[in-house]
Amino acid sequence: MIANFYMPTKVIMGENCIVNHAEQFKSLGSKALLVTGAKSAKLNGAQADVITTLESLQISYIIYDKVMSNPTIACVYEGAKLAREEDVDFIIAIGGGSPMDAGKAIALLASQDIKEEDIFSGDYGKDILPMVFVPTTSGTGSEVTQYSILTNDKKETKTSISSPILFPTISFLDAKYTYGLSRNTTINTAIDALSHSVEGMLTKKASKVTDILAIESIKTIVLCLKELMNGDITKESRSQLMYGSMLGGMVIAHTGTTAVHSMGYGLTYFKNVDHGRANGLLLSEYLSFVKKENPAKIEEILEAMGMERIDELKSLLEGLLGEKETITEQDIEKYASISIQAKNIANCLVAPNYDDIVAIYKKSFNLL
Ligand code: NAP
Ligand code: FE
Repeated sequence: MIANFYMPTKVIMGENCIVNHAEQFKSLGSKALLVTGAKSAKLNGAQADVITTLESLQISYIIYDKVMSNPTIACVYEGAKLAREEDVDFIIAIGGGSPMDAGKAIALLASQDIKEEDIFSGDYGKDILPMVFVPTTSGTGSEVTQYSILTNDKKETKTSISSPILFPTISFLDAKYTYGLSRNTTINTAIDALSHSVEGMLTKKASKVTDILAIESIKTIVLCLKELMNGDITKESRSQLMYGSMLGGMVIAHTGTTAVHSMGYGLTYFKNVDHGRANGLLLSEYLSFVKKENPAKIEEILEAMGMERIDELKSLLEGLLGEKETITEQDIEKYASISIQAKNIANCLVAPNYDDIVAIYKKSFNLL
């Protein structure tokens, strides 16, 4: 049995954990670059807690708040240029997956000269700035992964930079920053987290350890999704979601994702469908596809969900995601021919071919 496990990120959880663990910042340097999106970090209290803590330690800081959803290569080079010009010692990324992923790329590009055409090569040196992460959505798990996912215009998809040096140094998980998250973003991000744990179990790299983490994550997230189906969720459930999402991140840090993520990138790149929503629209049909070859694994996943049939998951996801986008046969052919080239296709326990991918898209959508 092989169950290797590597997770070098220190995780600190709980209400007010940043302010209560100020000492964690001391060894990181005397000047920080805060990497955030345009608005949410300023509104949900996370940026204020970070600044209070930095000021109490006399650590100076500057802010780069231009990270958009699905960050671009231009954005991370701009952030890295600022980090170099201002000679910062470390990065603090606050936000959803977009600022966190951008934060990783900025920490890398601020320390190493990497040409744009080599950014996805994975062929990097060892240098990187220390990184502090504060997730404010419960979805991507980026706070505990070695991936930074960037929009890749050359390939018309999203591609991940992956390297063990990209694991954040410390992640602070305080669910209070997610209390004001909209219903839509809460649902989409929770489904992304669910998808990570489910997909992790359906990869060739899954191990006993990752399956245990995935099962705990699936149980936790599905309870929250069922609660969301009936209205709003409690603060305690938001804290559970943050925990389940982090576990999902630990899973994919070891297993990677499957065809669901690569197929979803097409919907995000061409149709601007939110990342988690894209996964949620495809997940049930992907499970039906895998079930034909490996019913036992699907049963294990459904059991963790407290469900007997894939249809139950399908109706939960459909209820949460609402009306589906319409796409054309030509769209599907284009997305399928791009996603079949993704690395994570070979990573699937049951790997779909081009025709399978087309069929999964078709069953998942109303064709125009
Ligand atoms: P996001 O793109 O980071 O954020 C989506 C929206 O939510 C933004 O408008 C953001 O506003 C807002 N927001 C964030 N936190 C909020 C809060 N607490 N209250 C109110 N609004 C808030 O969304 P995400 O789903 O978390 O991240 C998606 C990205 O992560 C994608 O690029 C995806 O490919 C990537 N991803 C990475 C991994 C990984 O392992 N690294 C895994 C899965 C997905 P502001 O812009 O104002 O902040
Ligand atoms: Fe994801």
